[in-house]
Amino acid sequence: MSYKEALVGRRGFLRDAGLFSLLAQVSWPRFLKAAPGRNGSAGGVYARLGVRPLINAAGTYTTLSACVMPREVRKAMEEAGESHVSIPELQAAVGKRIAELLGVEAALVTAGSAAALTLGTAACVAGKDTEKIRRLPDLEGMKTEVIIQKSHRFAYDHAVRAVGVKLVEVESRAEMEKSISGRTALMLFLNSADPKGQVKRAEFVEVARKTGVPCMIDAAADTPPASHLSEYNKMGFDLVCFSGGKGLQGPQCSGLLLGRKDLIEAAFLNGSPHSDSVGRAAKVGKEEIVGLLVALELYLKRDHKAQWKDWEQQVESILGAVKSVAAVKKAEMFVPEIANETPHARIVWDPQILPLKRKDVARRLQEGEPRIEVRPSAEDEPVVEVAVWMLQPKEYRIVARRLREVLLSPTV
Ligand SMILES: *Cc1c(COP(=O)(O)O)cnc(C)c1O
Repeated sequence: MSYKEALVGRRGFLRDAGLFSLLAQVSWPRFLKAAPGRNGSAGGVYARLGVRPLINAAGTYTTLSACVMPREVRKAMEEAGESHVSIPELQAAVGKRIAELLGVEAALVTAGSAAALTLGTAACVAGKDTEKIRRLPDLEGMKTEVIIQKSHRFAYDHAVRAVGVKLVEVESRAEMEKSISGRTALMLFLNSADPKGQVKRAEFVEVARKTGVPCMIDAAADTPPASHLSEYNKMGFDLVCFSGGKGLQGPQCSGLLLGRKDLIEAAFLNGSPHSDSVGRAAKVGKEEIVGLLVALELYLKRDHKAQWKDWEQQVESILGAVKSVAAVKKAEMFVPEIANETPHARIVWDPQILPLKRKDVARRLQEGEPRIEVRPSAEDEPVVEVAVWMLQPKEYRIVARRLREVLLSPTV
């Protein structure tokens, strides 16, 4: 072999090697093999830790890290992290901007909807009184009760009880009115429980208005639709709580408290950066404050109709992949009421043909490659539910293929 031949051969080899490594960088081989890696170095970080990333076909569950932020949000957070800033100044500026965007009186970025519940409650109990703020959760000399409908009790009311208050459970409007006294600090409403309670939103606000007691609503997971972001303030709720890391796709540890100016100012004083406050543990940093604002701006600009259509198409595609499976009895689209209000897929199979329960199918999807998480539902039923709104581009195809494989073979 001449020098020239060797060189050409070598060049050819290098060219092939170059092409090979180029191909390896193209997203599809990684995309087919595993979920990680699509987001730049994310796969690398998790791989080094031995933590397996997952395809989120469940929804905005905190346990599953809720959402993936759009690139613009991640970039804004990185930029926010490049210099120091005064947190009170940043909170005031961002709060003002958010209030303008949503057409509400005032706004505060919190560490989540749970943090918003704590800060909102503290605001109603201690107000702006430094002495009282320092004393919480010791309520001496302060109002001690929060009224809630029995059917509205939920896990996150712990964030309200953390302030030291006692929840007073009521059922009817008459009972509600009778329970309001000089000890009542607040009336609390869980938005997603509206169909279950006797007193609906508008009537609840009416009772609060009549008695002069502030009322707060937790609508953490209740965007979309975008209209919810200002609807409850307009309806008359004094304080409204949202998660930043759910439908808004902002930082996972961010949230919004929206409402009356005096209460929002008091809420800020009852939390970080104020060291001696009940809400100090729910700290929010400059990156989250900026990240949530940018996420909200993006969210409000989004073409929600087009996005809905895209979600529907993804659901249809998943349903189409499993419809022809013999064991599948029903494959349908559904939209949950109020919270997580987006198109989902529900697949029901005949346990006589496919002797599996939901938990078996969920485990097989979890254990497969890539790991897929589906929506939590009744563990022993022959039904699986899939959310598409937190899927990354094209992941619905993997979900469709894996679901089909699992439903086709009880031994997969
Ligand atoms: C998720 C959720 C919360 C908690 O929200 P974070 O933003 O994670 O603090 C509170 N209330 C309800 C109804 C929720 O769905």
